[in-house]
Amino acid sequence: MNDRITIGAAFLMTSLAGGAAVARAWVTPVSRGRHRATAPAPAPLLRPIEALDQFEARCVPEGRTTLYVRFRTGAAMCLDCRSSLAGGAR
Ligand SMILES: [Zn+2]
Repeated sequence: MNDRITIGAAFLMTSLAGGAAVARAWVTPVSRGRHRATAPAPAPLLRPIEALDQFEARCVPEGRTTLYVRFRTGAAMCLDCRSSLAGGAR
């Protein structure tokens, strides 16, 4: 009696797992190998970690000399108050 229950449960589990695998393969679309856009990130979204170098300059909003970072775009940003240097840094 107990063996028949065990065999029946094993058969039920196997058939459910197989049915789930078949249903999943049926629903999942065929992969075309292209899942993400390849466009580069726009320039205004550059983060400070992508800065080229650092230099000291006078921060006008703070009224003191602070550390700036220079970006690939030519812009510069104060590391303390995040304001940009007028006219860019050269
Ligand atoms: Zn500043």
